[in-house]
Amino acid sequence: MDKFMEAALEEAQKGLNEGGIPIGSALVKNGKVVGKGHNMRIQENDPMAHAEIVCLRDAGRIETYGDTILYSTLMPCYLCAGAAVQFGIKKVIVGEAENFTGALEFMEEHDIEVINLNDSKCKGIMQKFIQENKEIWFEDIGKE
Ligand SMILES: [Zn+2]
Repeated sequence: MDKFMEAALEEAQKGLNEGGIPIGSALVKNGKVVGKGHNMRIQENDPMAHAEIVCLRDAGRIETYGDTILYSTLMPCYLCAGAAVQFGIKKVIVGEAENFTGALEFMEEHDIEVINLNDSKCKGIMQKFIQENKEIWFEDIGKE
């Protein structure tokens, strides 16, 4: 597996171990992980604490985002895709988009290159979580 996706998946696993939603993210700049995080919505009772947002916060202030790559185990939602567009991130690599189709078109419309690795491990961890926690998941994506 791509080593950066592996870092994101490790984050997802951490989230699951904490009783949270298993979505992980990593921000890569110059071939190095400069930020990482996992969804903390349940742990922190914070609807904004999506993996990608937590990851961007972890990276802190970095001067430019044009040369960064945002990794996420799952296709980003509109909130996180909006952050990527706002900061000028040009490339987003996702583990999968089967459990959630997210905001793919929105990102592509804003000239972000989105690569889907279609990874079975990323799919598996999320699929199992959704099956066992439908209500929590629908709350996360704003669906009833
Ligand atoms: Zn999100």
